Amino acid sequence: MPTPALLLSFSLLAFLSWLAWFWFFRKRRVAALGEPDRRILEQQVAFYRRLPAKDKQRFEQAVAGFLEEVTITGVETEVTALDRMLVAASAVIPLFGFPGWRYRHLNEVLLYPDNFDEDYQVQNAQRNIIGMVGSGAMNRMMILSKPALLDSFAHPERRQNVGIHEFIHLLDKADGSTDGIPEMLIPHEYVVPWLRMMHHEIEEIKDNDSDINPYGATNEAEFLSVAGEYFFSQPEQFERKHPELFQLMGKIFRQEG
Ligand SMILES: [Zn+2]
Repeated sequence: MPTPALLLSFSLLAFLSWLAWFWFFRKRRVAALGEPDRRILEQQVAFYRRLPAKDKQRFEQAVAGFLEEVTITGVETEVTALDRMLVAASAVIPLFGFPGWRYRHLNEVLLYPDNFDEDYQVQNAQRNIIGMVGSGAMNRMMILSKPALLDSFAHPERRQNVGIHEFIHLLDKADGSTDGIPEMLIPHEYVVPWLRMMHHEIEEIKDNDSDINPYGATNEAEFLSVAGEYFFSQPEQFERKHPELFQLMGKIFRQEG
């Protein structure tokens, strides 16, 4: 015969499991995007525009889910519906090949009115930083220059996108080291070919023999983010100019076919 105490703990356990289940599924049922937000994506986000209808719907759900979990705060600048859509799109694009994946190491994105420096200061900034994944006191935060973000989506032909760049850094950082090898995404057997290809492409950039932004030659982490911006902004051109790199990055970000 089970004792009353045992029965009580069983019912408590059952209740807690139900609560966990309920919470889990409630969190999953994310509100859909409204028509104005969808229009913004259609007009401003080339990646979204290229998707077939059913993938567009999945993209919208991922955008809504991201905005439920991550706060977007303007620092001395207003946050518009367009800003929110572009931050969320930047987050969703590199993870789009991984349905259901989330940024677990991010609470907040700060939008700054201009470029900033290492101390996150805009006034008399000594350096022109347009985006950064926070560390130390700024852990679990990302900082983006709002004008640079708007510019990135307005001009995909420039093959630069500060939002996508920083979110790729965040994915790279998720395994503990920002080293150009996003172990969370990359299948094990591709690590060595990926390293070899990165080093080859970095040499090409240094020899002035590449149309990849020279900033990508800074180190492996910057190469991953810079090549990723190009890969997601201008995939056709990227495939034409860098077919092998395109193929391998397609495998890393699960963007094939
Ligand atoms: Zn970077």
